[in-house]
Amino acid sequence: MTNEDETIDREDCPHLDALDPSVGTGGPEQCADCGGTEHVRVCQSCGRVHCCESMESHDRDHWEETGHPLIRPHEKQGYDFLWCYGCGAYLS
Ligand SMILES: [Zn+2]
Ligand SMILES: [Zn+2]
Ligand SMILES: [Zn+2]
Repeated sequence: MTNEDETIDREDCPHLDALDPSVGTGGPEQCADCGGTEHVRVCQSCGRVHCCESMESHDRDHWEETGHPLIRPHEKQGYDFLWCYGCGAYLS
């Protein structure tokens, strides 16, 4: 995720049916693959927690393995966004 990443309107993302509103951003604050606790993201389809691309990039691996496109930062990260791998963009 770089400063070049764009933000698009949520309505313009065709992947929102993958979002399960009951998943939220809680759960273990630890990457399911490497155990890292920094910059962890929660898959909005299944709730699995993975580290972001500034770490070991296991959230991208999860997207490539499962097709789950939407992630949000873990609630303990202290900031929030919704990122779609399918669109390659933040959703407003
Ligand atoms: Zn999308
Ligand atoms: Zn990881
Ligand atoms: Zn998932």
